[in-house]
Amino acid sequence: MSAPEAQDVLVVGGGISGVACARALTESGTPVRLLERAHRVGGRMSSKPVPADAGRVVDLGAAYFTVRDEEFAAVAESWRRRGFAVPWTDTLASHEPDGSWTSKSGPERWCAPGGLRTLVDDLARDLRISYGHTVTAVGPGPAVDGLAARAVVLAMPDPQAARLLDPALGAAAVVAGRTWQPVISVALGYGHRGWEHLTPPGSSSAPLRLRAAFVNGHPDVSLVADDGDRRGDLAPVLVAHTTAERARQHLDDPDGAIAPVVAAVTELLGLTDAPAWTHAHRWSYASPAEPHDGEFSLDDDLVGLCGDGWGSPKVETAWRSGTLLGRAIAERLGG
Ligand SMILES: Cc1cc2nc3c(=O)[nH]c(=O)nc-3n(C[C@H](O)[C@H](O)[C@H](O)COP(=O)(O)OP(=O)(O)OC[C@H]3O[C@@H](n4cnc5c(N)ncnc54)[C@H](O)[C@@H]3O)c2cc1C
Repeated sequence: MSAPEAQDVLVVGGGISGVACARALTESGTPVRLLERAHRVGGRMSSKPVPADAGRVVDLGAAYFTVRDEEFAAVAESWRRRGFAVPWTDTLASHEPDGSWTSKSGPERWCAPGGLRTLVDDLARDLRISYGHTVTAVGPGPAVDGLAARAVVLAMPDPQAARLLDPALGAAAVVAGRTWQPVISVALGYGHRGWEHLTPPGSSSAPLRLRAAFVNGHPDVSLVADDGDRRGDLAPVLVAHTTAERARQHLDDPDGAIAPVVAAVTELLGLTDAPAWTHAHRWSYASPAEPHDGEFSLDDDLVGLCGDGWGSPKVETAWRSGTLLGRAIAERLGG
C-alpha cells in the first residue's frame, strides 16, 4: 500500500462522512487519500460477526437510515437496485412511560441485508485508503503527523477531532468543549423468534409486529430492533441500545450493561426465554448533544470538519456533510 503524498488531500476517518467526502473529491479530480484507524470502513455503521465465530453479522451501530435529500435518494436507489439496501418499514412500535404500546408511522426506514457497513464499503470502492492508520496530530500547513497535505478533513465525532487538532488551527475552536452522548449496544441471540406475534404487557389486544421499538422514558433502554427482520434473514437476534445514562455507568466495562439490558428487554417484550448469547459494544461518542450550525466547516488553513454532528445526527446527514465538504475543498483548490 503506497504512503500518503504531499499533493494529496488527506481525509481522516472512514465512516460514511469521510468516505463520501473522499468520493466527492475523487469525482472532482482532486487526489485524495483516506486514513482509517480500523481495518474496515464503516465507523458507526457497524456490522460485526457476532458471536465472532457465527459468520452472521449484526448491526451494532446505526439501526437503519432514512432518505430525504434528493441526491442521497439517488444513492439509496442505486443501493436498492443492486441489492445492497432495502426499504424496511415506515411503522415502528413505541413504548410509553405509562407502559402502553403504540404504532408510530414516520419516514421509510432503510436497511441493508448484508449489514449497513456494506453500504460504506460500496461508496469506498476504488478510493485510496490506508487502513490501520491512526492519526495522532493535525497541525498548521496543514499537516497530518508532520506530513504536509493540500487540505485535511477530520470526519469523526468532535471529541475525537479535538484530540488531534493543534490549538492554533481555526478548526480546533469549532470542536472544543462539545459534548457527545454514549450508547452501549447489546446484541441478544435467542433459540427462536419468541417475539414474532407478541402481545407484550401494556399493548392493545392486537399482536405487535416488533420490527423496532422506541422505548420512551426508560432508565436503561432507548430502542430495541429486530436484527433478523431488518436484515431479512429472520435470525432470532435483537439489538438494544441503552440510554446515555445507563451507558455512562459502564464505559469502563461495557459487559456490565448486559444484565440490566436483558432484564429490561425481557420485561418490555414479555419474553419467556433467556438469550442464548449476548454481546455488548460501547459507543463512547454515539451522537452529539447539540448539532453545529451549518453543514460542515472549512477554515483558512484548509482543515475541514464533517460528519453527523453537522445537523440531525444520522447517516444521511453524515453523507451530505462529507459530500458538501469534499466539493467545497475541490472548489477552493481549483480542482
Ligand atoms: C448506537 C447508534 C445508533 C444509531 N442509529 C442510527 C439510526 O437508526 N439512523 C441513522 O441514520 N443514524 C443512526 N446513528 C448515527 C449514524 O451511525 C452516524 O450518523 C453515522 O454513521 C456517522 O458517520 P461519520 O462518518 O460522521 O462518523 P463515524 O461513523 O463515527 O466515522 C468516524 C471514523 O473515524 C475513524 N477515526 C476516529 N479517530 C481516528 C484517528 N485518530 N485516526 C484514523 N481514523 C480515526 C473511526 O474509526 C471511524 O471509522 C446511530 C449511531 C449509533 C452509535
